[in-house]
Amino acid sequence: MRNEPGASQITVVQSMDKWGAKGLPSHVMPCFWNRTTITAWLQAKDDQQQRLFAAARQARRSNFGDRVIIRGLVEVTNLCRVNCEFCPMRRDNTRGNTIFELSEAQILETAAKIKESGINIVFFQAGEVKKTTQIVGKVLPKIRAMFDGPVELLLCLGNKSEEEYSYLKNQGATSYILKHETSDPKLNEKLRHASFANRIESLRTLVRTGYKVGTGAIAGLPGQTLESLADDLLLARDLGTHMVSASPFIPAPDTPLAQHPPGDVNITLNFIAIARLMNPGWLIPSVSALETRASGGQSAGLAAGANVLTVNFTPPVERKNYLIYGKDRYIVRNDHVNEIISNSGMERMASVFV
Ligand code: SF4
Repeated sequence: MRNEPGASQITVVQSMDKWGAKGLPSHVMPCFWNRTTITAWLQAKDDQQQRLFAAARQARRSNFGDRVIIRGLVEVTNLCRVNCEFCPMRRDNTRGNTIFELSEAQILETAAKIKESGINIVFFQAGEVKKTTQIVGKVLPKIRAMFDGPVELLLCLGNKSEEEYSYLKNQGATSYILKHETSDPKLNEKLRHASFANRIESLRTLVRTGYKVGTGAIAGLPGQTLESLADDLLLARDLGTHMVSASPFIPAPDTPLAQHPPGDVNITLNFIAIARLMNPGWLIPSVSALETRASGGQSAGLAAGANVLTVNFTPPVERKNYLIYGKDRYIVRNDHVNEIISNSGMERMASVFV
């Protein structure tokens, strides 16, 4: 993580001194959070960091109790037309990757397994390709009918047109995650080779269309500053999103960024805690990339105020081909989720959006 010389260190001392030895209270006013205070608290360490986490857990408790929302993930296809420099599923790797596309029968079978596990959020994720609109749109009403009660149908299918978002919503979709990855426009376009303005416009369209919307950032991208990470949080707030995530950067093999150092887990955890305090009602996942970086990473995410975990239900035959962080990604299974929830003294929770 590159830091702007001098300025950030000075603001740390000033902003943290404001709260003295007590650290942050859980009911800190939303207007407290600006670029300077967020940048300062992103660097919290030791006692200050523990106080930050304690305040975040208290804020979560006040809004959700000690409960974790569980999603069931189905990865629909690993084909992608975008060429993000941090992702092994990038367009340039298409020929070298084993491309898959789940059939309707596989998707329905996977949704049935999610239902059997007592999870009422079916989370469809895929590379960004146009055909997922039809593939997913077609199965949404069938999955809605499969569940006896309320079910959240959550999509993460990349940039689409307003018509496609409306179609998917009419087919039964509830929510949509479209991570902005980094709010630094130049860095974003350099690393994603796609229009940043379009991405933000898509997020605005999703909010306007009535989706519950999530965005998210990668922490520790080469060339990223702490100030731009602070901007990530301010952007998520200003867009009026309902969910936000932070993932530590994982230098994946077969990508142009393979040789760069990984993102700082502590800064990622601080991002989660600050997000919880900025908007206690946000859904904030403790992502699998935290576990990929270090064993116990997802428990640490819950301790920092996160309140969502995702179990991977993608058919095992295709799971290994969804190379989001390379072949070594951590696959989150139900037993792992049960273990970390119970170790954290928390309970499972159903969707809050349906
Ligand atoms: S991060 Fe998403 S959009 Fe970018 S290359 Fe990977 S799958 Fe495609």
